[in-house]
Amino acid sequence: MTSEFNDYFKAMIVATILNYQPEKAIALLSRHFHVDEPKIGIGVFKGRSKRVRAAYSGKRKEILAAKREYLYDPFTILHEFYHHLRNFDNEHRGTEKYADKFARDFIEAYNRVSCKLL
Ligand SMILES: [Zn+2]
Repeated sequence: MTSEFNDYFKAMIVATILNYQPEKAIALLSRHFHVDEPKIGIGVFKGRSKRVRAAYSGKRKEILAAKREYLYDPFTILHEFYHHLRNFDNEHRGTEKYADKFARDFIEAYNRVSCKLL
């Protein structure tokens, strides 16, 4: 896969989330990475902090955003999707730092592609 294609794929994912279609973005990401789709919804997992924007439960394979608006925040959705990806890989648990890097990578690609289109 060329980096150009990579950038367009990532930019398209970010644009889809910004376009209020986080479920569609999650479906595309899951297909791309060959993993089952996580469920996504609004709420807070029992016993988890209400102050975080979103959280992922590996047991439930579910991403929950504390508020609906956070479902439309690409950084939040991509960060939580990274936890879902790593959930399939028991050897290598994702850390917060890597989840942030994964999300930032998509947003930077989105910015690069937007610059080219303007
Ligand atoms: Zn996290």
